[in-house]
Amino acid sequence: MASLLWFQGGACSGNTMSFLNAEEPSVCDLVTDFGIELLWHPSLGMELGDQAKALFRSLASGERDLDIFVFEGSIIQAPNGSGRFDMFADRPMQEWVRELCDQAGIVVAIGDCACWGGIPATPPNPSDSTGLQFLKKGPGGYLGSDFRSKAGLPVINIPGCPAHPDWVTQILVAVASGRAGDLVLDDLHRPATFFTSFTQTGCTRNQFFEYKQSTMTFGEGTRSGCLYYELGCRGPMTHSPCNRILWNRTSSKTRAGMPCIGCTEPEFPHHDLMPGSIFKTKKVAGSVPAELQEGTDHLTYMAHAAAARIAAPDWSKKDLFVV
Ligand code: SF4
Ligand code: SF4
Repeated sequence: MASLLWFQGGACSGNTMSFLNAEEPSVCDLVTDFGIELLWHPSLGMELGDQAKALFRSLASGERDLDIFVFEGSIIQAPNGSGRFDMFADRPMQEWVRELCDQAGIVVAIGDCACWGGIPATPPNPSDSTGLQFLKKGPGGYLGSDFRSKAGLPVINIPGCPAHPDWVTQILVAVASGRAGDLVLDDLHRPATFFTSFTQTGCTRNQFFEYKQSTMTFGEGTRSGCLYYELGCRGPMTHSPCNRILWNRTSSKTRAGMPCIGCTEPEFPHHDLMPGSIFKTKKVAGSVPAELQEGTDHLTYMAHAAAARIAAPDWSKKDLFVV
């Protein structure tokens, strides 16, 4: 059995809601088939009051073994570094987190807030929020860059706003079955198996992306055009498997006609959140997207785009919805 404790800091519970919807494997499967002993979770834990505090104290002191510590939400450090804006079980949450991370075999951060501060850490960041080992893209965060859990690993980051439920349960299975050391992590500590490809990988609009044909309309499934050229889709720049591991086993934002807003990247939320700054593609020189697919540059883009537009067949400019 691998013991697991799940705490929440500055969180909306979105990652918990997502986790409870997991299917491959489900939360029940974690317990019945994969030997995870769920010690406590804010929505599922049975212990209350003094019983819960006694449990937390025994884990934080090392009296009882803790194999996996999962944290959801940002670390709230305000006011003045005291963490007292987020009190939990008689103490600032950040104090529990420090002690539990020192005792845990593996530490897993779920969702953007735990990974790098997320929306709470967006300037002006009044709660002085940070992630466990990153503040936005900067290494460090609450625990510091040198932190390693008892198993010798940094915090494993599973970002997203929220993270897809199956990313969470599949990584927990790997960790609980002793294969944490086999996980390849990228430079932001994300499991490479999920975060090497892009949201665009598997998007049903790729045919329109290649021919530089834009849709001007949200929704409408994949009837016409790509969401990148006008509507701000970040699919080419965002590392996520959202079009490989579908949401609800059915769809994704881009398949449904909603631009990817890049929620698995530390810079999320991107831009200044002012009206018109999200679902609108920023341009340079009038018509060239300011942010490009990883690995290309503006000159290469312009040469490719000119050729692609000339080569674009008629069907790529039409509405493909036929009844
Ligand atoms: S809609 Fe977004 S993810 Fe899909 S092809 Fe266009 S840019 Fe890529
Ligand atoms: S499509 Fe983009 S914004 Fe939506 S969940 Fe995936 S990475 Fe996040």
